[in-house]
Amino acid sequence: MDIKSYIRDVPDFPKKGIVFKDITPLLKEPKAFRHVIQLLGDRYKNHKLDAVVAMESRGFIFGGALATHLGISFIPVRKPGKLPWKTICETYELEYGTDTLEIHEDSIGRGANVLVLDDVLATGGTAAATIRLVERAGGKVTEACFLMHLTFLNGQQKLKSTPFYSIIQY
Ligand code: AMP
Repeated sequence: MDIKSYIRDVPDFPKKGIVFKDITPLLKEPKAFRHVIQLLGDRYKNHKLDAVVAMESRGFIFGGALATHLGISFIPVRKPGKLPWKTICETYELEYGTDTLEIHEDSIGRGANVLVLDDVLATGGTAAATIRLVERAGGKVTEACFLMHLTFLNGQQKLKSTPFYSIIQY
């Protein structure tokens, strides 16, 4: 299946110069969405994972489906002030300014094997901050996984030694 044919390029969204990779055509087509989850399920079924950690908000869509498919935990990483319990937070640099992500401090069992999952690896700041959150919460990141990798932004450099995988590359 040609997954790229279900990704819509939206130029100048959310701001000028960004080509937004819109996943809604893929989510609308059940065969394509299921194909992605099955592909990831096949890849990770023997990885002895305990949890999928995914970032707000598009990561939740794939992360929830994959965690259920694999029969393992789903753990959300969210923007500040959204999680109701005690949190650990990580702040990371953006092109202009900073951003912060949070995880519940008791969400990950000590030594748990975790898959970090998001829709897009762009500059890598979001994924790198999430990896740090998982490690500070006591988990081990087995791999960071993305539906799409925007290779020209070199985000993989920020992941340092964490193995990463993407289904499609641009
Ligand atoms: P980054 O921290 O730069 O790797 O950005 C990753 C986050 O921003 C992911 O959660 C993506 O959902 C989102 N993102 C970045 N660039 C794009 C893009 N071109 N199209 C869609 N989402 C993007």
